Amino acid sequence: MSGPIIEMQGIVKRYYIGKPNELEILHGIDLTVQEGEFVAIVGESGSGKSTLMNIIGALDRPTEGTYALDGTEIAGARDKELSGIRNRKIGFVFQTFNLIGRTSALKNVELPMLYAGVPARQRGARAKELLEMVGMTERAKHEPSELSGGQKQRVAIARALANRPALLLADEPTGALDSATSRTVMDIFHRLHAEGMTIVLITHSQELAGECGRILTLRDGQFIAERKGAGRSAAV
Ligand code: ADP
Ligand code: MG
Repeated sequence: MSGPIIEMQGIVKRYYIGKPNELEILHGIDLTVQEGEFVAIVGESGSGKSTLMNIIGALDRPTEGTYALDGTEIAGARDKELSGIRNRKIGFVFQTFNLIGRTSALKNVELPMLYAGVPARQRGARAKELLEMVGMTERAKHEPSELSGGQKQRVAIARALANRPALLLADEPTGALDSATSRTVMDIFHRLHAEGMTIVLITHSQELAGECGRILTLRDGQFIAERKGAGRSAAV
C-alpha cells in the first residue's frame, strides 16, 4: 500500500523574540511526499531548511498549518505523543553525526532499539545486519573517536534505520564530508531508496540534489521552485 508519508498544508513557523516582536521563518509551506519518494530540499543558508526539517521530523511544531506524518496528525500532538511518533516513524541523519561518544558503533546502532524495548539478542542481530549494510562490520567495536567522518556517518545511517522508520530525514548529511565520502553516503541512500525507503534530503548541493527524484527549492521560508531530478542515473 502506498500513500503520502508527509502531508503538510499551510505550515507557518514564527519565533517570538520578545514582545511585540515576532519573526516569521516559514510562510505557509505545502508539502506532500509519497511513500517511496527520494526528495531533495535545497536552499541557501538561512532559508529555513533546518526549521522545516525540525517540523517534518516532529522535533518542533508549526505555529500554523496541518501536518500528517504517515497518517498521524502532528500539529496538535502533546510532547510525549510527539516523541513516540518521532521514535517510531523517523530516522534522522545529521551533518554532525551525533553519535554517542565512548560507545561502540554497534552499541550506537542498538540504542534506538533499546529505547523501543527490543530484546537484547534481536538488537544485536539487527545492529550487525545494519552495520554490514553500510560496510562497517569491521569497525563495529570501534568508538566514534576512532572513526573517520564518513565512517561515523555510515554508523549514523545504520542507527537511523534501527527501528525501521517510515521516513529517513537527512539534514546536510554530507556537509562535513569530502566528495569521495559524500559519494559513499549518497550511494547508500540510493540503495535504500531502491529498496523502497522514503527519503528527504536537505542539502545546499545542487549536484547531490540532482540525483534525487524531485527537488524543491526553499527561499526565505517559501518554496519557489520544484523540478524533477535525474535520479540515480546522475550518479556516476
Ligand atoms: P537553514 O537551515 O536553511 O540555514 P534555518 O532554518 O536554520 O535555515 O534558519 C532560518 C532562519 O530562522 C534564520 O534566519 C535563523 O536565524 C532563524 N531562526 C532559526 N531558529 C531560530 C530561533 N530559535 N529563534 C529565532 N530565529 C531562529
Ligand atoms: Mg540548516
